[in-house]
This record gives sequence, structure tokens and C-alpha cells, in this order.
Amino acid sequence: MTNTALLRPATFGVEAVVDELVEIRRGMAALQAREAAVLARAVEVVRAQEDVPGPSEVRDVPLRSMAAQLGVALRVSDRTVQRQLSDAVVLTERFPGTWAALAAGEVSGAHVRVIVEAGLPIDDHDARAVFEEAAVEVARRETPGRLRPAVRVLAARLHPLPLAERHAAAARGRGVWVRDLDDGMAELIATLPAHLAHGIRDRLDRYARRAIDARGGAGAGGDAAVEAMLLDEPTVHDTRGVDEVRADVFADLLLTGHATPEVSNASTPEGEAIVAHVQVTLPAMTALGHDTTPAELTGRAPIDTATALRLAGTASGWDRVLTHPVTGTVLAVDRYRPSDQLKRALRVRDEHCRFPGCRIPVRRCDIDHTTAREHDGPTELGNLAHLCRRHHTLKHHSAWRVRQTPDGILHWTSPTGRHYPDRPARTLVFMPDVGPDRGGVIDEFPAPF
Ligand SMILES: [Zn+2]
Repeated sequence: MTNTALLRPATFGVEAVVDELVEIRRGMAALQAREAAVLARAVEVVRAQEDVPGPSEVRDVPLRSMAAQLGVALRVSDRTVQRQLSDAVVLTERFPGTWAALAAGEVSGAHVRVIVEAGLPIDDHDARAVFEEAAVEVARRETPGRLRPAVRVLAARLHPLPLAERHAAAARGRGVWVRDLDDGMAELIATLPAHLAHGIRDRLDRYARRAIDARGGAGAGGDAAVEAMLLDEPTVHDTRGVDEVRADVFADLLLTGHATPEVSNASTPEGEAIVAHVQVTLPAMTALGHDTTPAELTGRAPIDTATALRLAGTASGWDRVLTHPVTGTVLAVDRYRPSDQLKRALRVRDEHCRFPGCRIPVRRCDIDHTTAREHDGPTELGNLAHLCRRHHTLKHHSAWRVRQTPDGILHWTSPTGRHYPDRPARTLVFMPDVGPDRGGVIDEFPAPF
């Protein structure tokens, strides 16, 4: 087979494979829903039985007995079954809309877990119903990975307790643990406020990328390595992957207080310290104290207003983001230089690569003209989008096609002609009751640590 034959889309048979897989997954989702209904019925049977009088540890004996019967029949532990029984009750009783979407094969078991995990703390029945409706709508068209931050923000808005209060309680659970692994390894686990954890990870990332950029072609076994071998000189051959470099810098920074060139392999020029960046979106009305819509660690999780305001105080500047009052589409970002303004607006709108399901953050993406410049595609918001390297290549070297509509939606068409719209993250969740002003402020700035 020649190269050109490989590049040509093999449409023959692909359509049938896609159809069949979609059908199989729908069937699996429907079966999972049916299983949950049967498990919930088992609990109903238990509930209908007489209460066992006595101390609390014997009161759930009927449930344990049921779990044991099912466990033995299925050859799984009765503890596992008991957990599945309670999960089934939660799903069918508290999230009936999610269960129905699973039964219809519209969402997967993974989507269901994300929705239930985020929505479970909402005690109020009506608030949970509002949450569920919006969450299922997002789940119908996004991956579980993209669904998670969207439903977290949604749940935080609907939670009866203010986020600040919940955060204060949760922050008391912060700490550092070591868990031993095999082969002389161990895990160091730190539970931290989200902005600190993401800030630490971002700084490690920046060190690692610089270290890898600095070694250039030689580290990958290029000419320099060959030359050194011919000259019979010992080769210092850095082949560490980005995860390894991150881990080395992490240990180095904590043990010595700074990243040494030997370990991090990143010679940092004087006065050019690598600092962590976090990006925060703070609704204007919240900043002014007129609303309680929580701020957000952009694309990650909601954070409490006090933390967001404190971070805001350290920022050198903010961008004002004007969003459409109904759809949440980013309309404009106030800025000084037009090219910067465009880039910033695009960053705010996209948050991550705009291929369906991809979550590579914009700072590691290319800006792509949806319609190429040589085909008269203009350099404006409605014709630009972030694509990661993988999906940029896919767009240019495969039969995937894409066009963009003014609402920022990228309409992808697969080689076999299937249509997949990709919506900007900020328009994923539409909440009718958050008031007319959805304008926010946003910026990326060095984190104060
Ligand atoms: Zn991508």
C-alpha cells in the first residue's frame, strides 16, 4: 500500500463500523440503566420487610443479606454489591432524568458518574432538578472530561451553602501524605486549595518545557550525539520524558528550594524566574458584591470569591469580557492592541483545543484559521480557533472538514460525513435564572506564591 492510499479516507466499511459501535454503546447504556432499576428494586424489597429491632449495626441486616444473595449469585463481594445497591438508589430516586437519558442511550455510565458526583451535595429537590436538566443537556453532546468542570460550576451555583463556607471546611482537610509503592517508589500526595495545586502543576510544566526545549535535537539522539560517539566522548544523553522532568523539578524545588541545572536541566537566565500562572474568571456582579455566582479557576473548578478577589489584587490588569446575555457567547474583550485583543478574546472563548472532546489548554495550542488565509479566510474571531498539534494536523492532513458559525461553534464533519458541533466552553451551560448580566472579568497573571 502506498502512502497516498493510506492518506485517502477508507470510507468503505468505516460508516458501518461507526454505526455499529454507536449502537453497541447505546445498548450498553440501556443495560446499565436496566441494571440500576433492578438493583433499586432489590432495595425496595428490603425496605418493605419488617425493621429489625436493635442497635444500628443489626438494623441493616436485611440489606446486607440481600447484598450477600446477589454477591454469591454474581460471584462478586457482597460489599461491592451493597455499594452498587446504594448507587442505584441514588441514581433512580434522586437523578431520574439522568437515569432516563442513560436508558435511552443518550449518555454513558461515565457521564452519569460525573453528574451524580457533582449533583449529590445539592439537597434541595428543586435545585437538583434544575441542575440535572442542564447537566444532562451538556452530557448529551460532550465527553465526560469536558462535562466535569461545567457541572461543577453549575452545582456550585445551586448549592445552598455559600462556596466560601464549604471551602473553609474543605480546606481544613488539606495535608500531605506518602504512600509506598513497589520497586523502591512512593507517592507523595498533597491535598491543597485548587488554585495552589494548579499553580504548582503549571510551574512544574513551565520548567519541564523549558528543559526539554533547551536540550534541542541532541537529547533526541541527533547529530551531536552521533558526533560525540565518533569522537569517543562520553555522551550525556537526556532522554527524559516531560513527566520525568516534572517529577525531578518537583523534588529539586522542594528539597533545595530552587531548581538546579543538573536536575532540572533548565538554566534559568538571571531575572527570568519561572512563575506559575493561573487563570481566573470572576463574574463582574460577584466582584461588586451584587451576586453570588462563584468565580472559577477557568476550565477547572469553582473557587470562592474571597480567593478570587485576593488573586485579582495581585494581577497587573484585567480584561473585561462581554458575553451574550442569553447564550453566554463571548462577544468582545476590552483591550489596547487589536492583535492582542483578538488573541485574548480567542483564549477566553476557547479555553482549550476546539476539536470535539479535546481538553488541551489554549496555551499549548496553535491558533488556526478555520478557512485558510489563502482561501480568503479573514483574521477575525469568527474565523480563528485554537487547535492542539494533534488536531491541527488532523484538520490539514486528513479528510476531516470544519467550518465556523458566528456563535463560535465549530462544525466538524468526519471523513464519512458525520456532523459534530463543538461549542465554546462558556456556552455549555445555560442558566435562565442568573440575571441579565453575565459579563465577567478574566485574566491570566502570576500567582502570588
Ligand atoms: Zn486537540
